[in-house]
Amino acid sequence: MSVFDNSEYNNHEQVVFCRDTDAGLFAIIAIHDTTLGPAAGGCRMWPYASVDDAVTDVLRLSQAMSYKNALADLPLGGGKSVIIGDPKKDKNEKLLTAFAQFVQRLGGHYYTAEDVGIGVNDVEILAKTSDYVFGLTATGDPSPFTARGCFEGIRAAVKHKWGRDSLQELTVAVQGIGNVGRYVCKNLYEAGARLIVADVNTEAAAYAVKKFGATTVTPEKIFSQDVDIFSPCAMGGILNDATIPQLKAGVIAGVANNQLAEPRHGRMLHTKGVLYAPDYVINAGGMLNASGDIFGEYDINQVMERVTRLYDATLRIFETAKQKNLPTNEVADDMARQKIAKGISRKK
Ligand code: NAD
Repeated sequence: MSVFDNSEYNNHEQVVFCRDTDAGLFAIIAIHDTTLGPAAGGCRMWPYASVDDAVTDVLRLSQAMSYKNALADLPLGGGKSVIIGDPKKDKNEKLLTAFAQFVQRLGGHYYTAEDVGIGVNDVEILAKTSDYVFGLTATGDPSPFTARGCFEGIRAAVKHKWGRDSLQELTVAVQGIGNVGRYVCKNLYEAGARLIVADVNTEAAAYAVKKFGATTVTPEKIFSQDVDIFSPCAMGGILNDATIPQLKAGVIAGVANNQLAEPRHGRMLHTKGVLYAPDYVINAGGMLNASGDIFGEYDINQVMERVTRLYDATLRIFETAKQKNLPTNEVADDMARQKIAKGISRKK
């Protein structure tokens, strides 16, 4: 299938196929939109089953970055990259350097950072070859900031759905206790919520039991838990035809990218009466933190203030969705597109 025929193509400005046979590199850089500034978004390394799968993933992720950056009021466009390969077996300095050369050749049109399979140490290697890298050691681990934004999104959802300011005694099912999920659990625990967790890695789930008194269930059972809130913090595509009918939660708010398998699943949630906090809105905290590397200025207090403001941004989406009786994902997409069209986001 041609990239132009891919249903996720959505007017991407540029898609670059990067091949370096000597280094064993096969990567794709997708630049969705640069109206508001240079495209920025991480690099994922994953053993995709096919090139088509990799193309679909990178296109979806880069469009989400355009929307995320626009609604977070960052003067940045959206882009993303994927390296096809198994990070446990195929990742090495030569491969990363070859990838960084492709990023450098784009001359600042696209800035890259970490994502699944690419960590901060890898990003430091990329930065030896390319000037267009962020998420470096200087700004630190983005996970606590991402988790904090998610927590603000959960608070906004609870306020909108139940008119409550407190999370005391609410029960939250958290899927995925990884880098971000464990901070999401910490925030929720400190706010008095009860936790039910699942992770394919039993040690990760055990961490939440030990630290936050969580109860564990098997990964398949996490969707059907009798909880107030479901927080997806693992992989994308988990809100789909098979899982949505199982949900008992009134609110969905988590950090995983591209939670809706397809946009129509946002409408399914709306019809079912489930309040969905759009993923790219409430998971922007890490980006707000790491983007300091791009602008050459970093003030942690300012970052925290902006992360906290994700509460208001999320609430605004819920209120508009209610007024117009529309799914929240459609409202968020529309707001982001309008912002990009007007080019009104500015460096704050
Ligand atoms: P991670 O790899 O550290 O954690 C993911 C966890 O999910 C792991 O513990 C893994 O074992 C678990 N998992 C995988 N499949 C599962 C399944 N089917 N059921 C239950 N658990 C499962 O990743 P992370 O950095 O914590 O990121 C989590 C999600 O948030 C990803 O989708 C990522 O793209 C997104 N995200 C992360 C950041 C960030 O700051 N790291 C920012 C924005 C979005």
